[in-house]
Amino acid sequence: MELYSESYKAKCIRKLKEWGAPLDGWERMITYDVAEDEDYDDAVLTECELCGCKRVRYVHVMRNPRYFEDIEVGCICAGIMEGDILAAKERERKLKNRSRRRQHFVKKKWEEIADNIWVRTYKYHRLQIVKDYSGQYTVSDNSRCTKKYRGRTIDNFLSASYAAYDLADPKESVKHHA
Ligand SMILES: [Zn+2]
Repeated sequence: MELYSESYKAKCIRKLKEWGAPLDGWERMITYDVAEDEDYDDAVLTECELCGCKRVRYVHVMRNPRYFEDIEVGCICAGIMEGDILAAKERERKLKNRSRRRQHFVKKKWEEIADNIWVRTYKYHRLQIVKDYSGQYTVSDNSRCTKKYRGRTIDNFLSASYAAYDLADPKESVKHHA
């Protein structure tokens, strides 16, 4: 199976040379989903800094000790930069699956066991959401608890639900440093 064309690869390498950037020694720092909380809305897609493709959803952040800044690229460009397309594809596949599980998770119902207390079990995590008198939410599982989602106080049930998912299936599980 051909994953990319030679002319595509040549274009990427030309761009790196233009920038005076190294052609090897790139390491992926993290891969993230720009549309994590969206329901497949194209509006949030971003642009690959290397090839200019404007339909990137899963961003691979590439770093090189010999270059002054990180470069954010799509899957194939990440593979070209680190010299391993299959590894980049595999990372993207894992992240895609997690995003799918996460969207599926927030669509399913919680059980309201008392006023403003909801529970649910997922992957052996006993998850709980509690809404307090001021309208703020606290999310917990068997061992941890959080009052924040994306660095902000949780003031709606959907964000609480996303935060609960992240406790049960942390993003770190899809990270793996090469
Ligand atoms: Zn690209």
